[in-house]
Amino acid sequence: MSRERSSRDELEYFRDLGIRDLYVDAVRSDSAALTPGSSPDLPALQKFLEGCPRCKLSRSRTQIVFGQGNPKADLMFVGEAPGHDEDVQGLAFVGRAGQLLTKIIEAMGSRRGDVFICNVLKCRPPNNRNPEPDEVASCMPFLEEQIRLISPRVIVTLGTFAAQAVLGTDEPIGRMRGRWRSARGVRVMPTFHPAFLLRSPERKKDVWEDMKLVRDFLASGRE
Ligand code: SF4
Repeated sequence: MSRERSSRDELEYFRDLGIRDLYVDAVRSDSAALTPGSSPDLPALQKFLEGCPRCKLSRSRTQIVFGQGNPKADLMFVGEAPGHDEDVQGLAFVGRAGQLLTKIIEAMGSRRGDVFICNVLKCRPPNNRNPEPDEVASCMPFLEEQIRLISPRVIVTLGTFAAQAVLGTDEPIGRMRGRWRSARGVRVMPTFHPAFLLRSPERKKDVWEDMKLVRDFLASGRE
């Protein structure tokens, strides 16, 4: 067993004994080592995230929801945060909103496995409350690394918080949706969150208009 592995095992032993602060402090200093470009690939980044204690959501989550899909996808969907089903299963967008997202992707002529799906926050906020600014700030470096590694041609942000976090703005989603933006050199299309569409199905046509723009851009072969 390597020296590094053995120290981690020791820390986990202390954590299991209830001496949690020692474990949290050690993993926090480990997480602080994340610098842009420091992950060689998505599995390494996912491994790096294991046990992340960077924000208070680490205390209430069941597990980290890293996101899943094609690691070299042209199209990346970014939502807000895992919900109950995602927290239980460890997968992004698997509840009712996720099923609607699957229909949207298929209507665009793609499959879920063609795209990459994740959230700004990798851990579920208690009772699905809104993400808090310190949580977004803590978790954004991981999303930024995902974007760098996947290098998609288009990012579709789902809902207010994802658009605001990715674009670094406080504009309301109603003003942003349907208009091309740019972040980190990637085209960004903000649109409504599928959970909002479940409550307001009359807005589905807006999302479809936005997704047609995305579909046509991807089909055009333009960069
Ligand atoms: S939300 Fe992000 S920063 Fe906070 S504990 Fe989870 S993975 Fe770490």
